[in-house]
Amino acid sequence: MNLFRLLILGLLAWFVYRMLRSWSSDGGAGRPRPRNPQDYEMMARCLRCGVFVPRDVLSERGRCRSCEKTP
Ligand SMILES: [Zn+2]
Repeated sequence: MNLFRLLILGLLAWFVYRMLRSWSSDGGAGRPRPRNPQDYEMMARCLRCGVFVPRDVLSERGRCRSCEKTP
């Protein structure tokens, strides 16, 4: 009885292992994704406080939002 239970458990573990493997191959984890420089957001430095923020966040004067609020 004990051996039979062990066999069932082993079969179950093998089944789960196979399922996980098929999922990971479908998910494209093994395939390297092409990375372009355009995918990254350009960072720029605030002229006043020097913090790095996305370029869109900076105003035309080159300041971040919190510096733009304070005169
Ligand atoms: Zn700033």
